[in-house]
Amino acid sequence: MPSYDVIIIGSGPGGYVCAIRCAQLGLKTAVVEGSATLGGTCLNVGCIPSKALLHATHMLHEATHNFAHMGLKGKSPSVDWKAMLAYKDEVIAQNTKGIEFLFKKNKIDWLHGWGSIPAAGQVKVGDDVFETKNIVIATGSDASSLPGVTVDEKIVVTSTGALVLSKIPKKMVVIGAGVIGLEMGSVYARLGTQVTVVEYLDAITPGMDKDVQKTLQRILKKQGLKFIMGAAVQGVTSTKTKAKVTYKLHKDDSEATLDTDIVLLATGRKPVTEGLGLAALGVEISQHGQVVTNANWATNIAGIFAIGDATRGPMLAHKAEDEGIAVAEGLAGKKGHVNYGVIPGVIYTSPEVASVGAIEQDLKEAGRAYTVGKFSYMGNGRAKAVFQAEGFVKILADKDSDRILGAHIIGPYAGELIHEVCVAMEFGASAQDLALTCHAHPTFSEAVREAAFACGSGAIHA
Ligand SMILES: Cc1cc2nc3c(=O)[nH]c(=O)nc-3n(C[C@H](O)[C@H](O)[C@H](O)COP(=O)(O)OP(=O)(O)OC[C@H]3O[C@@H](n4cnc5c(N)ncnc54)[C@H](O)[C@@H]3O)c2cc1C
Repeated sequence: MPSYDVIIIGSGPGGYVCAIRCAQLGLKTAVVEGSATLGGTCLNVGCIPSKALLHATHMLHEATHNFAHMGLKGKSPSVDWKAMLAYKDEVIAQNTKGIEFLFKKNKIDWLHGWGSIPAAGQVKVGDDVFETKNIVIATGSDASSLPGVTVDEKIVVTSTGALVLSKIPKKMVVIGAGVIGLEMGSVYARLGTQVTVVEYLDAITPGMDKDVQKTLQRILKKQGLKFIMGAAVQGVTSTKTKAKVTYKLHKDDSEATLDTDIVLLATGRKPVTEGLGLAALGVEISQHGQVVTNANWATNIAGIFAIGDATRGPMLAHKAEDEGIAVAEGLAGKKGHVNYGVIPGVIYTSPEVASVGAIEQDLKEAGRAYTVGKFSYMGNGRAKAVFQAEGFVKILADKDSDRILGAHIIGPYAGELIHEVCVAMEFGASAQDLALTCHAHPTFSEAVREAAFACGSGAIHA
């Protein structure tokens, strides 16, 4: 058996990016992946396929709602669901094959099969045991379960089943108003499904800025999604074609039942660590099931590291990627670094939502003196021209130094615009630095500049 400098278990964005950087830095590298294709959750059943369906259904929305307004007349497109799923599968295949190509280019071995760690310095795949100086656990996450809800991936589905439904349902109940629930709920609402979101808390997208939560919920309601807030799901019963969801309202303990064709369980994700042999090795696992690591992503066992969804922190592909790069740099004798204070989060609804850094409610609670610069897209010419003037950019800055502490955007291309603020934050910029940077006209980015102006002496177009 060949021996390696590093074997990475899992080929998601954490694992494959770590492998590429390790190989670029001259380390002999292999990746263990048990699934038929590389790329993990993100490329196969997560970020990429969900964005393909969001794109296709957004185009449908534009065609049916806005084309005629712009003088584009003619029959609205009808939906060929099988063809839409085929388009989504094509996008997945292009991306997963792309990783295979990058592995070959960088001389990374793909060890096909499910891996375990019989001892530090060894990885077992099938009957083969490979020697390695270092091991990186990048085994990702799976959908969480909920008591009283049995997933069959046909009628009661997780996001994985929701990406391959045999037909467009008339009704869908989404349990959980987090990012995945709202994105998949939006896809089906645009396809004509009656979508009801049942959420335990009183606000959607926990952890987001309150202003954004309220605005997004209002906009999604206008798009046809129904919300039942403050409701604890008691259980789901299903037949081969239908399901019933029973929930209890916190406010008065009353119970009610929803009849539906499909139930999407979207209550979060849990780390995958079983089957690796971690308990026998004595690798420390947190009470949330995450592999415990130190500031260098090292576990308590020498030579074993962990990154991505399998460890602490936000379950995001780019967080996993950054950790993968940082670990690779460390293994090659350099210094790896991830700034957890500047990790953007994006929701790909329409409009998009993007967020980085501090949220206002946390600053308030901490008693920090801050300024708020807020600018509505109603004042942005480009947004009005493309029927996307709902939403705002909100920048939070330190009251004394004017240093940017966070930014929250709900509006067109929010997921792209947020990076201007991320770069500014990485350079320790003030809101005034952003405001005094010339922005091309007419762009959506001008709204970011205006919000930065609003932190000081005021926005121009407000
Ligand atoms: C529907 C959906 C939409 C999402 N959208 C976004 C988004 O837009 N943006 C974003 O940032 N994040 C998004 N995410 C989250 C993102 O997919 C994850 O944060 C990311 O994939 C985590 O990367 P990872 O490398 O840690 O693990 P994963 O991508 O989960 O990959 C882990 C890999 O390890 C393999 N594996 C596990 N155990 C073993 C073993 N013992 N042996 C061999 N292989 C093993 C698995 O087969 C898998 O391929 C989404 C998730 C879902 C479900």
